[in-house]
Amino acid sequence: MIDLQPIFQAVRQAAELCRAVQEMHLAGGEKGGHEPVTVADYGAQALLCRAISLHFPDDAVLAEEQGGQFVELVSDGEKAQVIRLLSETLGQRVTEADIVRWLDHGYGCEAERTWVIDPIDGTRGFLALRNYVIAAGLLVDKRPAGAVIGAPGYPTPDRRGALFHAQSGVAYMQPFYGGVLKRIRASDRDEPASLRVLESVEKSHASHERMERVRRAAGLEDAALERLDSMEKYARIAAGDAELYLRLPRLFSQRPHMVWDHAAGVALVQAAGGLATDVDGSPLDFTQGRTLANNRGVIVSNGRIHARVLEGVAKVLAEESQA
Ligand code: AMP
Ligand code: MG
Repeated sequence: MIDLQPIFQAVRQAAELCRAVQEMHLAGGEKGGHEPVTVADYGAQALLCRAISLHFPDDAVLAEEQGGQFVELVSDGEKAQVIRLLSETLGQRVTEADIVRWLDHGYGCEAERTWVIDPIDGTRGFLALRNYVIAAGLLVDKRPAGAVIGAPGYPTPDRRGALFHAQSGVAYMQPFYGGVLKRIRASDRDEPASLRVLESVEKSHASHERMERVRRAAGLEDAALERLDSMEKYARIAAGDAELYLRLPRLFSQRPHMVWDHAAGVALVQAAGGLATDVDGSPLDFTQGRTLANNRGVIVSNGRIHARVLEGVAKVLAEESQA
C-alpha cells in the first residue's frame, strides 16, 4: 500500500487551478479558443508530476504533456499565466525551469511503478463547462493497479464533485474536498430496461449512430442513454451509477487509444468488480508505451452484461466489414 494523500492533494490543487482558468476565460459563455486548455493542462500536469517527484521520486511517469513542448509551443502570454497560477496555488515563486522539470519528471524511466497522467481528460467538456476529470493511474509491472480520479462535475448531492481512488483491489469514492470515504462497487444490474449506458458527447469521438446499432444488436435498446465527457464514464460504472461505456474501433482512422485516457479508469473499474476489455474481449495491454497498440476499441461494463455486449459489437463490426 502507498499513501495516496499527496496525489489527492495535487488533484484538488489542479482542480482549483482549472477552475481559476475557467473563470478567467470561459465564464459568461465567452470561448477563448484552445488557450484555456493549454494553460490548465500544463498547470495541472505540473502539480501532479511535482507531487510524484516529491513523494515517489523513483517511479516512472507517462504523461500527456511534455516540457519541451511547453518551452517551444506555448506562447509567452500563456506561459506567464501558468507561472502565475502555479505560484499562487503553491504559495511559492515558480519558474519556467521548475515547470519543465516537473512536467518531465519520470519521463522515459523504467520502474516497477509507472504513473499515467491525464491532467485534463475531456478537454471539450472542460471548455464547454461540462464534465472533465484529472486522472492519475498507477501501473505496477505495466498492469493497472491503482487510480486517483478527480471528477469535479460528478453529480453528487452537494454538487461539488467526487474524488475516486483504487488500490489493492478496492475502490473508493469521497467528496471532492474530503469527507467520508465510501467503498464503491459496480452494479449487479442486467435487466436491459434497468441499464444505464454512457457514450461520448462528441460525435467526432464516437459515432452515436454506430453506438445505437450496437445497443440494438445486444438487445439493449430499452437501456437509458447518457452522453458524458471524459473518464468520468469509468467512474460512473465503478460507483454503480451506470453499467456500460463503449468505444468502437474507428472506421476511417488509425488513431490509437492513448494510455492516459484509460489507465486510471481501468484500475478503478476493475477494483470495483467491473470489467474493461477491447472489442475482442482481451484485457487492455499497457505494455506498449503511450498507446494501446495491441487493442481494438474499449468496452467497460459492470461485468454482468459484458458477454452480451461483446456479441453485439461483434455483430455490428461484421456487418460493417461486409458493407
Ligand atoms: P471523451 O470521452 O469524448 O471525453 O474523450 C476523452 C478522451 O478520449 C480524449 O482525450 C479524446 O481525445 C480521446 N478519444 C476520444 N475518442 C477517441 C477515439 N475514437 N480513439 C482514440 N481516442 C479517442
Ligand atoms: Mg484525455
